[in-house]
Amino acid sequence: MPTILRFPRCSLCNEPVELETAKTDENGDAVHEECYALKVQPERTKHIVISPMTLTCPRCNAKPGQVCDLFDAEVEIVHVERIKAAAAMDVAAKKN
Ligand SMILES: [Zn+2]
Ligand SMILES: [Zn+2]
Repeated sequence: MPTILRFPRCSLCNEPVELETAKTDENGDAVHEECYALKVQPERTKHIVISPMTLTCPRCNAKPGQVCDLFDAEVEIVHVERIKAAAAMDVAAKKN
């Protein structure tokens, strides 16, 4: 009897999400880490003075001013790592 593996579908791009890497959004829907990063980015950057776009991305080495990737050739993706780096710099800046 074959085992049918059911992967949840990413609620943002509608591709299957592997459970090991799945994230859930605020509605509990499965999403890819990268799709989730894309979705939460505008919310998170509200609290960050230093823009992730002014940094070189630690994940893909995108240069300052360049987005990390394009999703569906029109949606700009900025990696979580880059946002975190900006957030960390922001925290450091507030200490001084
Ligand atoms: Zn996705
Ligand atoms: Zn990147």
